[in-house]
Amino acid sequence: MEKRIIYADNAATTAVSEEVLKAMMPYFCETYGNPSSIYKAGRDARRAVEEAREKTAGAIGAEPREIYFTSCGSESDNWAVKSAAELMAEQGRRHIVTSAIEHHAVLRTCGYLEKKGFEVTYLPVGADGIVRPADAEKAIRRDTALVSIMYANNEVGTVQPVDEIAAICREKGVLFHTDAVQAVGHIEIDVHRQGIDMLSLSGHKFHAPKGVGALYIRSGTRLPSFLHGGGQELGRRAGTENVPAIVGLGAAIEAAVCDIHSREAAVASVRDSIMDGLLKIPYTRLNGDRNRRLAGNINISFEGIDGEALALMLGMKGIYVSSGSACTSGDADPSHVLLAMGLGEASAKGAVRLTIGEDITSDDAGYIIGTIEETAEKLRRSSSAWQHMIRNDNT
Ligand SMILES: *Cc1c(COP(=O)(O)O)cnc(C)c1O
Repeated sequence: MEKRIIYADNAATTAVSEEVLKAMMPYFCETYGNPSSIYKAGRDARRAVEEAREKTAGAIGAEPREIYFTSCGSESDNWAVKSAAELMAEQGRRHIVTSAIEHHAVLRTCGYLEKKGFEVTYLPVGADGIVRPADAEKAIRRDTALVSIMYANNEVGTVQPVDEIAAICREKGVLFHTDAVQAVGHIEIDVHRQGIDMLSLSGHKFHAPKGVGALYIRSGTRLPSFLHGGGQELGRRAGTENVPAIVGLGAAIEAAVCDIHSREAAVASVRDSIMDGLLKIPYTRLNGDRNRRLAGNINISFEGIDGEALALMLGMKGIYVSSGSACTSGDADPSHVLLAMGLGEASAKGAVRLTIGEDITSDDAGYIIGTIEETAEKLRRSSSAWQHMIRNDNT
């Protein structure tokens, strides 16, 4: 029998969809001109890039001239945070507000800026994995250059109060950036209505290829260029455009936002059945708010189990999940997100994340629950610390 493969790690990356691949194909070997060239092959490539820009802008409520293509979500985050810091430092503003649960692309960029003399406030989160707008308001000072709060967390899927925080920033005259890499294509976004100044997104989180992203910069924001060189991307991000990948991003984002509510509701319903099934396993806990989370996200701690070991064993059985966040897989440190939510080290290390897509059926759900239950039981049975704990618990 062919081994059943279940991919439940869509927060790490997604498969390129067939329609996206099909849209990209002509731009490798047929329409391969440089978009800056003036003859037809160049103009055709230019048109394809600009169409993708329109689709991307349309998907998030922006104008096409506010969309800048980048090489990935990490680049978009680096550009937004470093360039805003550079811009505002000219006015003597050298303070940044972010949260303790950001992706490393933001956290480590802030850490770098701290070494350069900037001061960073890392907002805490509640046990629910959500930042409090009041904390953001209190943290903003006269010398605050930027507030950067992610839209949705990549580990626990919690959706942050972006509208409230953006409104506070607007009122106080502070730039607001959001890392929306996990949110785009899953949550309806309208950057103008929501008062967002900068937003990062990445293609490979919504069925476009890896290595292409975008930064939305509200028009009128004098954000300095990030890559210097040619005049691409309105002179703000040099480098010959990755035409096929940009075309793929345009096709993918258009498909992702189409019918977004009903499609996400369908994913959430399968997700809920898996979540409820897993939470019936004794000594488990859900990490992150149950309702204010991404439709496909499940993050559960199994007491007495090493999440890494569980993820490895599930992988051998063809169920692909991650422990903590994929970016830290392989290193033994517990997740900074779970620690910020107040989990103890053991519970944080016992966490497993499943992020399902639209391909997971209710039949798959039953199989996932059964396999995880069986595997968790096996791991616990072979753990003497666990046996000891259970004995003490029962007496
Ligand atoms: C994946 C991810 C990134 C990084 O995007 P890349 O395109 O892989 O560089 C940044 N932020 C969040 C929240 C992510 O999930």
